[in-house]
Amino acid sequence: MEATSPAPVVANEPREVADGVHVVPDGHVALVPNVGIVLGNRAALVVDTGMGPRNGAIVRGHAERLAAGRRLFLTLTHFHPEHGYGAQAFAGGAVTVYNRAQLDELRAKGAGYLELFKTFGDSVAAQLDGVDLVEPDVVYDGTAELDLGGTRVLLRDWGLAHTRGDQTVFLPEQRVLFTGDLVEERCFAIFPWFPPDDVDVDGHRWIEVLEELERLEPVVVVPGHGDAGGPEVIAAAREYLELLRDETERLAGEGHTEDEVAAELDRSFRALHPDWAQPEWIDFGARCFYTAYARRATARG
Ligand SMILES: [Zn+2]
Repeated sequence: MEATSPAPVVANEPREVADGVHVVPDGHVALVPNVGIVLGNRAALVVDTGMGPRNGAIVRGHAERLAAGRRLFLTLTHFHPEHGYGAQAFAGGAVTVYNRAQLDELRAKGAGYLELFKTFGDSVAAQLDGVDLVEPDVVYDGTAELDLGGTRVLLRDWGLAHTRGDQTVFLPEQRVLFTGDLVEERCFAIFPWFPPDDVDVDGHRWIEVLEELERLEPVVVVPGHGDAGGPEVIAAAREYLELLRDETERLAGEGHTEDEVAAELDRSFRALHPDWAQPEWIDFGARCFYTAYARRATARG
């Protein structure tokens, strides 16, 4: 993290992207997620909290103002710190809902990620000061439906892709989809591929998940990071992953080493998408696909 990076603070006002569906935009600030606030007649759902208790309190303030007395629910798209480590700010004020894979991953890795992120610079460490990892009130397996009163919300755990338990939040009537980090907009896919400590990311499965998300035919797509848009936001994310996979396999098939493939693709994808954020993740993604390719080649003999 560069010293000049803006502090990871939820700083924007909520914007209504569909009837009763509000997004607090990330403002293209690293380690700030897009936050959702969905209003039904009786209840409201908050999607992601930002990083740390102070961001969580900002999000809770927006949610309580918009909800105007409605009961609050909180869910997280996955266990990563900038998405969910503000959950403690909702204690006593919301019913929290996680999927089981996400909870298991939080229990297994949450403390380690907290320490890792604290090394990303003073402004990040400041937001992570005093974080408690929060257990949910409700845990579901596979899928869950919330009825906010006239507004149905479908929660779904997609299994291993960007993490072990990526969850989407889909409003089938409004056709609004919150993707978490399964989709980023003008930002390279985040591959938390840190062997041997963490290899819980699967690029091939991730592409399949994005194909399934496209089949939901969402009208409004709210990515984990970047601007909300239409279905083209998912298509662009999928096309990047497909090209990263294909180019990795082409170069690996020509006999290049993992380091050579990663260096070549880092160069070529930065040139292809000069306006995309977080190009440092190209290298991790190439290594993830390379490892999968090498494993299959070994299995074939
Ligand atoms: Zn993430």
